[in-house]
Amino acid sequence: MRQVTVLGSCGAFPEPGRACSGFAVDWNGYRVVLDLGYATLPRLLRHWPDGAVDAVVITHEHPDHCVDLHGLFRMRFYGQPAGPRLPLFCPPGVLDRLSGLEPDVDLRTVFDLHPLPGSYRVGPFDLTGLSLPHFVPNAGIRLVADGIVVAYSGDTGPTPALAELGRDADLFIVEATDHDGESGRSRRNLMTSTEAGLWARRAGARRLMLTHFWPGNDRAAAVAAAQAEFEGAVLAAQEGLAVMLGIPAN
Ligand SMILES: [Zn+2]
Repeated sequence: MRQVTVLGSCGAFPEPGRACSGFAVDWNGYRVVLDLGYATLPRLLRHWPDGAVDAVVITHEHPDHCVDLHGLFRMRFYGQPAGPRLPLFCPPGVLDRLSGLEPDVDLRTVFDLHPLPGSYRVGPFDLTGLSLPHFVPNAGIRLVADGIVVAYSGDTGPTPALAELGRDADLFIVEATDHDGESGRSRRNLMTSTEAGLWARRAGARRLMLTHFWPGNDRAAAVAAAQAEFEGAVLAAQEGLAVMLGIPAN
């Protein structure tokens, strides 16, 4: 099985019944989770009942992307204290945030830390973390296995690096925060759904999945705005949505 399952699709804070950023990537039994924002951990446990993930990737230190990593830490620390360390790929600020919640414990007893940006071999994947513009260091993630590319922006402003990150991606997961007034700011750290479509087109991606919707946004309108820029399939991330990877378009 090769698929991406959406754990959460909201930016900033969750809507009722939803969660913040998180994606579970299954690749023939190898399990990678991309981001663990508010309320994603119970959904991760529903998807992988024992929480047995092979690697965790966190794009940046904001809590809507990493706070439930703390819950996963506690599962490992209290529930599986003798287990192997879990590979964690993230900018250094992520562990600093978690340390504030768990000041008396060395988090590296649970996590085997690999800093981003950087490039690594992770199970079947070549993982590349590229620096993208945000309020804090943010690493966009590119995973390649068997020539199939999955890419994920985390949070970002518009930048040519997005075309590199999502180059020829089978699935390009791009933030479409659509926060009021965002496109008028002098320094851009978030995007509109129109910009998400534009950068997916410039990347030559096959499919675009919009995510990180500001709570209350009209998601159908976001898809329509992205479709005006991008000719491939446009999906809206939705909790529980599973997208198969590497299958021919129909
Ligand atoms: Zn965010």
